[in-house]
Amino acid sequence: MKIGLIRCEKNEDRCPLTGCLTCLKETKEGFANYYEAQLTGVFTCHCPGENVGNLGKILKAKGAQAIHFCTCSFSRKEDGKWKLGQGFCENVDGLLKKVTNETGLPCVKGSAHLPEGYSVETF
Ligand code: SF4
Ligand code: SF4
Repeated sequence: MKIGLIRCEKNEDRCPLTGCLTCLKETKEGFANYYEAQLTGVFTCHCPGENVGNLGKILKAKGAQAIHFCTCSFSRKEDGKWKLGQGFCENVDGLLKKVTNETGLPCVKGSAHLPEGYSVETF
C-alpha cells in the first residue's frame, strides 16, 4: 500500500516523524492493517487547514492509495503514555473528511503510538 502522510505544522519543529516512519516501515500501530506499506510522501498542514484537500490530491497524483494523519494531531502524551484527545488539532476529523471527499481515497486517523484502546478510524 502506498501511503501519503499529513502532519501538523504545530509539531514540525519538534518531531522529525521518527515514530511514524518506523511504524509505517514495520506495518505497526496505525499501519497494522497493511501487509506492506511504502511512503509516497509527506505534507505539512498549515492552519486553518483550508489547503489540506489539495495536499491530498497531490499525494494521490504521486501515487498514494491511502492518506494518514499523524497521531499527535488528535492525541497527547501524558505521564509517558499517549492518550486520546487534546492533540494539536481541534478539527482533525473535519480535515480527514475534507481529504477523503476531495480525493476519494481512504483517509486514516492515526500513524504511530496509538492511544490505548483506540483503533484507527478511516474516513
Ligand atoms: S505521531 Fe508521533 S512520531 Fe508521528 S509526528 Fe506525531 S509525535 Fe512524531
Ligand atoms: S488545521 Fe489542524 S492539523 Fe492543520 S496545522 Fe492547524 S492544527 Fe495542525
